[in-house]
Amino acid sequence: MTGLLAGFFAPWLIYAGIFVLHVLLPARRVKGYVRDKRSGKRLRYRLNGPLVLVVGVMAWLAAGYSGLMPWDWLWTHRWSGAAGACALGLLVTAAVVLTAPGRGGSLLADLYFGRRVNPQMLNGRVDAKMFLYLVGAVLLQLNLLSFAAHHFLTYPDDPSPGVVLYVALFTWFVCDYLIFERVHLYTYDLFAERVGFKLVWGCLSWYPYFYVVGLWSVADLANPNSPAWLLVGAALVFLTGWSLARGSNMQKFTFKRDPEKSFLGRLAPKAFSDGERRVLYSGFWGVSRHVNYLGEILMACGLALSLGWLLLPGPWLYPLYYVALLFPRERDDDRRCAQKYGRLWEQYCEQVPWRIVPRVY
Ligand code: NDP
Repeated sequence: MTGLLAGFFAPWLIYAGIFVLHVLLPARRVKGYVRDKRSGKRLRYRLNGPLVLVVGVMAWLAAGYSGLMPWDWLWTHRWSGAAGACALGLLVTAAVVLTAPGRGGSLLADLYFGRRVNPQMLNGRVDAKMFLYLVGAVLLQLNLLSFAAHHFLTYPDDPSPGVVLYVALFTWFVCDYLIFERVHLYTYDLFAERVGFKLVWGCLSWYPYFYVVGLWSVADLANPNSPAWLLVGAALVFLTGWSLARGSNMQKFTFKRDPEKSFLGRLAPKAFSDGERRVLYSGFWGVSRHVNYLGEILMACGLALSLGWLLLPGPWLYPLYYVALLFPRERDDDRRCAQKYGRLWEQYCEQVPWRIVPRVY
């Protein structure tokens, strides 16, 4: 019973610790993309994700080395931990939504999509959205390490190299997100979404516990003895996806900040423009209209492949989730852009007919 309770409240405690680290550790201050409705000025953010991650992982290592906490404690308490994170997600959703004025729609819609757009606390020191993504990312990383530790403790003589590869690639994914936190300020979540169940519960519970579903499914299984070509292939699929996602996101980030600037000092931007608004159609954005989504799906496939259990459904739930998330999202974003850019978007669709996968979709 004590173990269950400890597991349940573990994510609460970890999130509280991350909050303190985020507030106290040095951070860079940057201007975002979203504007404050009242002042019309761009919102400002304090970002210190990489530092918080490093300190968080060091605390986990210290707890393991000192014997304060078994290396695979988060694995042992994964079910109660996921339940605790779920409950916290629901509580925080209710607190964030119900304390804001209604939007004139149904309460259920408000709870799901939220009422507040870009809430910030402590005089702008903490931005709710960026903090939610940060806690999700750090707990995801700790879960990855603890689940892998369980595998190593269970099979000390013959651990699976696939587990090592999976953790290495996923660590890359987490670090990449945190290192490029600033680029995230220019994405859909920041400018188009509100803070409700989808974002709060998604970050506090789904992100750290579901994203690791591949390792959750196989950490208890013996080494599948994957051939080297499969491991190399999995890494290549992941890295191809990463290049597409990171490349396209960086190109758009560069373009939004300075529409004349060449990407990586080489690729001059080509854009449809009416003198005021601009739609980029060169480089990554000339391959398909959301090649970044293709990149994300490929990364997820690389992760599933790396574990080596090709016929087990568990690892494939992760790429499937991305397909279910990103295909409808592309449709939503397309509608939003068609409305915002009008004729320029039509020209873009004629120039680049593919939504996500070039020559296929
Ligand atoms: P995008 O980064 O593609 O952003 C879409 C917005 O970019 C549009 O609404 C529009 O906004 C602008 N835009 C789109 N096309 C053009 C163009 N050709 N020229 C100029 N502006 C354009 O999508 P998301 O924000 O959804 O995703 C960002 C990243 O996050 C992606 O890599 C995605 O895969 C990833 N992601 C990751 C998730 C995860 O869990 N790991 C979940 C969801 C997304 P405007 O012009 O108004 O600025």
